[in-house]
Amino acid sequence: MELASAATIKKLMGDDVFFKKSLGQNFLIDKTVCPRMAEAVADENTGVLEIGPGIGVLTRELSAVAKKVVTIEIDRSLEKILKTTLSDLQNVEVIFGDAMKLDLSALIKEHFADCSRVCVCANLPYYITSPIIMKLLESRLPIEDIVVMVQKEAAERLCAEVSSREAGAVTVAVAYYAESEILFGVGRDSFMPPPKVDSAVIKLSVLSEPPVSVPDEAKFFALVKACFAQRRKTLLNTVSSTLHIEKSQLAEVLRELDLPETVRAEKLTLKEISALSKLLHDKNIF
Ligand code: SAM
Repeated sequence: MELASAATIKKLMGDDVFFKKSLGQNFLIDKTVCPRMAEAVADENTGVLEIGPGIGVLTRELSAVAKKVVTIEIDRSLEKILKTTLSDLQNVEVIFGDAMKLDLSALIKEHFADCSRVCVCANLPYYITSPIIMKLLESRLPIEDIVVMVQKEAAERLCAEVSSREAGAVTVAVAYYAESEILFGVGRDSFMPPPKVDSAVIKLSVLSEPPVSVPDEAKFFALVKACFAQRRKTLLNTVSSTLHIEKSQLAEVLRELDLPETVRAEKLTLKEISALSKLLHDKNIF
């Protein structure tokens, strides 16, 4: 059965299962996309964690190339369909639950002990793209690569250069944990129902060590958030007001780092942001 097809989806969902917009249910109907995603992430030694199988279109492709696939679906009403579409596959397990709430570390330990590498692959529900990616990265899970489909604008933000106009707090966070690249674009017509935006598949290759060292990660990320809180304002204005730091103290720190008082967050490199964090920490300012 070809799952990447509007006719198949309609038939499988019948009259009693509905697309839930609130859960980001836009199902793929372009049969070229899932094989490309699966090839980009998995081989016969890989355990793949998928988030949101829908009717199982990507799950089946992952099953064909990976050693094992564990897929987490929040919507119980898809259970009957997934039983039909995945029942012939020996290396797939479906877990019903909320990927944001499950203990993914325990899940990986339990299911992928016999896999030499673990990766994540998903056509992500767009309402939780950044929180899911941040959960995967921040939890320091033993994951090598993350290949996910996200909204095109989110892909551009997540994979931007840190010191570029497209950069935001999430760009810095991703650069701290991973190398990122956009693999390919996917048009809105590749989905049923079609979303209002285009998409792109990105790859995050998780780094074994962050590229910069910071004295306090929680404070570093609070500073990053503050830097990008009001993008049009100077760093001096936005950071001093967000973190309640005396402007004069912050101005002195910027001078010590050879940064102009008028600098904006989008001009700073990851190294410069980490140096700023370190100096604020060493001077007991933040
Ligand atoms: N993989 C399928 C495809 O490509 O056609 C479906 C992708 S659809 C964009 C997102 C899927 O994620 C839906 O099946 C939705 O029910 C599920 N989902 C939404 N929120 C979730 C969550 N918090 N945890 C697990 N699955 C979730």
